[in-house]
Amino acid sequence: MAVDAVIFDWGGTLTPWKTADGRAWWRIAARLVAAELVDEAAAALAAADDELWRRSRDDHRSGTLAEVFEAAGVTADDRAYAVHDEEWEWATFLDPDAPTVLTGLRERGIRIGVLSNTSWTRARHEQIFIRDGVHHLIDGAVYTCEIPWTKPHPDAFRAAMAAVGAPDPGRCVFVGDRPFDDIFGARRVGMRAVLLPHSVIPQVQRGHTDGEPDAVIGRLTDLLGVVDAWRAASSSAEDLPRYRGEDAPRRP
Ligand SMILES: [Mg+2]
Repeated sequence: MAVDAVIFDWGGTLTPWKTADGRAWWRIAARLVAAELVDEAAAALAAADDELWRRSRDDHRSGTLAEVFEAAGVTADDRAYAVHDEEWEWATFLDPDAPTVLTGLRERGIRIGVLSNTSWTRARHEQIFIRDGVHHLIDGAVYTCEIPWTKPHPDAFRAAMAAVGAPDPGRCVFVGDRPFDDIFGARRVGMRAVLLPHSVIPQVQRGHTDGEPDAVIGRLTDLLGVVDAWRAASSSAEDLPRYRGEDAPRRP
């Protein structure tokens, strides 16, 4: 199997999974609204954010942080974004393995993409990659706040393939931590899917189907061996029929 591109999920994949304490919206509200309004604003922010998760899970439609602020009556201005970004900064740091893996893929001539289900802005994600020194290694990224769909919708994956200039899903690998969004979604469009299984996905965020990964890795650096093995596989494997429809059966 030739590999033209490897496309990564972001949270829980390029960053190690972090479990939040559930108080983030309250702390954000406490910095943005008058003291007597904090509880109410925090509840509204949390409800609007929950609605984004529900919409992504059930309808595979995307949303934005601006929507969350507006639904809660909080002005979505630079101050609001800055407070939000500071609150979540601790959870955004790159897996220390990631630069090695991204550089190794580059050395193999493989293009690198990112496809993240996110309400955060592109500017914020790019700022994080620049801070962590890997922005220059990424050939194309799709942040679902900018498109109508979220993973596992096939169009989200197609947008990511277009962003990296790799139009053949049979020559793309997707790496993610979510069995539904990432693995089921990538397999359904005909990509190979690699699961990094360490994330503690809340039950309410899980979808209706756990996809069957083509490979499971214990840490990001294991990906290079998986990709090398696929690239070295006999060319006869390339001739296996591949179904690329909406309900792809398991690969033989
Ligand atoms: Mg993830």
